[in-house]
Amino acid sequence: MHELSLVEDILRIAGKESGGRTVTRVVLEVGALTCVTPEALEFCFDSCKAAAALAQAQLIIERRAGVARCDQCGNEFEIGKLYQPCACGSFDKAILQGQELRIISLELQ
Ligand SMILES: [Zn+2]
Repeated sequence: MHELSLVEDILRIAGKESGGRTVTRVVLEVGALTCVTPEALEFCFDSCKAAAALAQAQLIIERRAGVARCDQCGNEFEIGKLYQPCACGSFDKAILQGQELRIISLELQ
């Protein structure tokens, strides 16, 4: 499962960055265009955190909608999928938001 290896990375990074302190929160930014299911991330996180010595940690997911700007008409629009066209019919666009997948912050105790 894609989410499982992601969670393993997240837990490894959080453990390393904590410097031995207790991690209480891991805040993750997840874009709508990343093909990652937030529910699966949460499930994997809760299943794996104890083994990574991060049993106290809570995963907070901040979702980002997909936003693109059309290269043809300049329109900025929300997209749910990468290949979604602009209302003008053009498929040429720049993705402005929605591909984020990163740890924003850690809360330590
Ligand atoms: Zn357009």
